[in-house]
Amino acid sequence: MSTSERHTYDVVVIGAGGAGLRAALEAHEQGARVAVVCKSLLGKAHTVMAEGGIAAAMGNVWPEDNWQTHFRDTMRGGKMLNQWQMARIHAEEAPARVWELEEWGAVFDRTPDGRILQRDFGGHRFARLAHVGDRTGLELIRTLQNRLISKRIDVFMECTVLRLLTVPGAADRPGAGRASDEPEALSAPARERSSARVAGRIAGAFAYWRESGTFVRFDAPAVVLATGGIGKSYQVTSNSWEYTGDGHALALWAGAALMDMEFVQFHPTGMVWPPSVKGILVTEGVRGDGGVLLNSEGRRFMFDYIPPVFAAETADSEEEADRWYTDKKTARRPPELLPRDEVARAINAEIKAGRGSPHGGVHLDIASRRDPEYIRRRLPSMYHQFTELADVDITREPMEVGPTCHYVMGGIKVDPSTAAATVPGLFAAGECAAGMHGSNRLGGNSLSDLLVFGRRAGLHAARYAQSLPAHKRAVADDAQIDATAAAALAPFAAALTPGSAQAGTASAEGTASSAGGTTSARDSAGTSVSPSHPPENPYQLQNDIQDVMQRLVGIIRTESELVRALKEIETLRSRARHVAVVGHRQYNPGWHLALDLGSLLTVAECITTAALARRESRGGHTRDDYPSADPAFATLNHVLRLRDGRLVLTTEPLPAMPPELAALFEDAGAESRADRGAPAGGKGS
Ligand code: FAD
Repeated sequence: MSTSERHTYDVVVIGAGGAGLRAALEAHEQGARVAVVCKSLLGKAHTVMAEGGIAAAMGNVWPEDNWQTHFRDTMRGGKMLNQWQMARIHAEEAPARVWELEEWGAVFDRTPDGRILQRDFGGHRFARLAHVGDRTGLELIRTLQNRLISKRIDVFMECTVLRLLTVPGAADRPGAGRASDEPEALSAPARERSSARVAGRIAGAFAYWRESGTFVRFDAPAVVLATGGIGKSYQVTSNSWEYTGDGHALALWAGAALMDMEFVQFHPTGMVWPPSVKGILVTEGVRGDGGVLLNSEGRRFMFDYIPPVFAAETADSEEEADRWYTDKKTARRPPELLPRDEVARAINAEIKAGRGSPHGGVHLDIASRRDPEYIRRRLPSMYHQFTELADVDITREPMEVGPTCHYVMGGIKVDPSTAAATVPGLFAAGECAAGMHGSNRLGGNSLSDLLVFGRRAGLHAARYAQSLPAHKRAVADDAQIDATAAAALAPFAAALTPGSAQAGTASAEGTASSAGGTTSARDSAGTSVSPSHPPENPYQLQNDIQDVMQRLVGIIRTESELVRALKEIETLRSRARHVAVVGHRQYNPGWHLALDLGSLLTVAECITTAALARRESRGGHTRDDYPSADPAFATLNHVLRLRDGRLVLTTEPLPAMPPELAALFEDAGAESRADRGAPAGGKGS
């Protein structure tokens, strides 16, 4: 066997962002033995980059705010495709999670009377985002990490998980993973669980240390995936190097289902210049604090793009929009604060129409609207970011911004209440889980999502693990480990002797050699090299995957381009089988990237397949050939699974909303119908 390092836990949490840390703390609280495994250094997860804030209806700034309004905003932002149970749980529990953070030491900005200050963000009816300047994620992570360290929870950092370990057979306890205190109606998937029996159940995870290149095995009956997003499958993205969709792919390969993968959020405002920083996020807080979007003619163009569904609550003149910042009672919100999908499409249209800024974006101006002291106090990171990276002083001149791939709404299909995936023992929370945000996420709703569902995932993973007596804990067979290790090492052999990587591996001491096996996992790069095929460079392959996704599966999609994308992805998959890396196993970034290619390709195929099937435009999925929302698609999710190594897409109906919640949308009448895509006056579905 290729690994000598082995650890046993009750719960292994993969990911050290907000969701992972919150899950680990909760599982520990329940008495479980817990480990956190993360690909980068502790403190470097995406969550730390979150700027704007945590959405929670605490009512500190607007006493009128409540969970029902937050629920309604979230569902409308998601174009009603959200799993309503998740949106409800989230809206109800978010305030408690913020107050809990404060108890644990988080220092939020304050209202004049000393309560947690809340700021405005797109799609939220009231100022709702608890924040710490524009460094909220940093404070969230600092707080959770301090607590994690004080609880002495084991952390394996710079350790990348390659595979989830599974054992065949049925779950020991029918319904495992469902909270005993939750009604059956809230707990999804008896049906799913029966199909998961074929796939087996979780027995742990298999990883490698990035520094030494050696392998490590975790035996655990419960695994929580909290691996974040997929941004690195696109060329222009706010995401950092580690967001290659690993959790999505790990879950799929282990037999779990993914859902809503067509919905990718392109944040309207990323930096566009200079090229080295293209895609880096410019927080929505700039617009929340008074910034406006201007085209090359100096026109505040968002007034031209107010969709009927939001017209009733959006200002229709600059005078009213500007008045809203000080008078929220009589004035309506500025159109710059429409949900992200609307703003991103509007910017895209302006650029396409030739009214863009010099470097292919539009202008975001706060300099002419707020005094420098206010800008530096409210947006310290933005001020620093533009001064340092673009030589632009945002207190004196406008920023240039354009859409950037930011967030994925799609992810691992989970039980709304317990965060259990469709394979027993597997749980997922945070950005890698699906359902909470529907087709489009509102700003600020991710940080609250991580806290609410991170806690639930940790709670139910611990309960699940504790429900299994020691003698019933599954242990994965060594063959699974050996096959994965051999596949991981194959790129070394491919470089040494092109054509021989089929049997290639590298020794545990860290030098390349050739003796070993292959894997049957379809997504492992580096197997089955044919003598005639030249070695492939992992950097080139990653670049080509990003190029296909950006070019053919970006903000605006069409059937012919999606079909072409699937073909190109298949070609890239064949090329990835010949990926080759030189050097040795100690901290070898080329090798690390070669190992990420499997996830990138899997995620690319999932997004494209689901995008092709959804013949309408909704939220983070816009089809040029089907430009409107279609009622026929309004109540169904696309679900993806692997069957005999092939990706299979099915549709599943959304659960019906109970009347008391549906009534929240009735005030809005036609509005709600438009959310779902029904024609005005038509029958709401
Ligand atoms: P992450 O914080 O992304 O952490 C993922 C973890 O998984 C990391 O530790 C990573 O190392 C680990 N990992 C991944 N793959 C593996 C693997 N194979 N093996 C081991 N470990 C692995 N949302 C808001 O609500 N409000 C905001 O103001 C906001 N601002 C944002 C600003 C920026 C610049 C960005 C990029 C995002 C922002 N978001 C915001 C979105 C939000 O930050 C993310 O959606 C959220 O932090 C994701 O948290 P997570 O816990 O799911 O995962």
